[in-house]
Amino acid sequence: MFAMKNPFFSLLRGAKVFAPEPLGVQDILIAGKTIAAIGKNLSVPVGYDCQEIQLDGKCLFPGFIDSHVHLIGGGGEGGYATRTPEVLLSSITTSGVTTVVGCLGTDGTTRHVTSLLAKARGLEAEGISTYIYTGAYELPTPTITGSVRSDIVIIDKIIGAGEIAMSDHRSAQPSIREYQKLAAEARVGGMLSGKAGIVDMHLGDGSDKLDALFAVTQNGEIPKGQFLPTHLNRNEALFSESLRWGLAGGIIDITSGVSPAAGSSKAVKPSTAVRRALEVVVPLAQLTMSSDGNGSMPIFDEKGNTVGVGVANQKSLLAEVADMVNVEGIAVEKAIQVVTSNVARVLKLANKGCVSSGLDADFTVVDTNFVLQDVWAQGCQMVQNGKPLVWGTFETARF
Ligand code: ZN
Repeated sequence: MFAMKNPFFSLLRGAKVFAPEPLGVQDILIAGKTIAAIGKNLSVPVGYDCQEIQLDGKCLFPGFIDSHVHLIGGGGEGGYATRTPEVLLSSITTSGVTTVVGCLGTDGTTRHVTSLLAKARGLEAEGISTYIYTGAYELPTPTITGSVRSDIVIIDKIIGAGEIAMSDHRSAQPSIREYQKLAAEARVGGMLSGKAGIVDMHLGDGSDKLDALFAVTQNGEIPKGQFLPTHLNRNEALFSESLRWGLAGGIIDITSGVSPAAGSSKAVKPSTAVRRALEVVVPLAQLTMSSDGNGSMPIFDEKGNTVGVGVANQKSLLAEVADMVNVEGIAVEKAIQVVTSNVARVLKLANKGCVSSGLDADFTVVDTNFVLQDVWAQGCQMVQNGKPLVWGTFETARF
């Protein structure tokens, strides 16, 4: 481990704090991994070693929570050489992200939930907070213990199932009944363990769009809130249906890595998608954003053949939050909710998503132009002036 030992107490002075609600300029006292106090002109605890850090002129947000990251890589749709690599610690932290939820994807054959769990535990040891979904695109979906329900109940880091494919030629083409059975398992697993039991649902470019999701939840036994459908901005037709889903009470997860600028020409730009959802009065609390980090971005021709492949980047999250504010005219305290408090609520992460005493000391600090400055994860400073202070175990590239 290359973490520098922080003193038990740290006092962050003078930042403009968004909790997400605007609190104005405040000091924040960190004790260990926890926010001990927020207030004006806090004093250093007498007799204790405490580092003081000036953050004047900077904005401090809750650390971003990225609910959809391919921690051990993904892809492979163009053959073995297109399997994407594992995520490195510093690429997460320098994206302003302090909590990640890892997932598998298309390939549940050569990649395994156990490997994902080990990677998540490794990243946690390196300093950030991590969770995973059990499963992969296909149904029946791969698990560790033999069932989605028992994985969620028994394994600490497993908070739901995903990413399960829907309306995609790479799905297992399951029936509505199969989706319902999976959701029921995840739901009961979540109830028994006090976790979200959420089903992270990958939506593809299929012409059925959200039809199966509406059908799965139609009789009301499985509530819409059990699902976190993602990539909903991948094309205009799917996004229009997503607005209908949102107005019916469903959660809309926008993928920041899917945008025209990143090569997805049919996509609705993520920041614009959030503005449009708010305009048609989808409640802000139902909007979340994730990066699809380290997933492959296969490019298909009209016959479904893979003709190219790219890798998604977590840095798109902060860039889209910035555009929500600077381009779409959304207030800062609203924009950051889609990557902080809303995600924590949907995933039932009680100590995350807000700047409040007693919660985890996870912070993302930016300048007035939304350029990342500093990051704290569990009370430890991971990034300073945009550069990593803490490196992952095998990171050799120093920049
Ligand atoms: Zn996906």
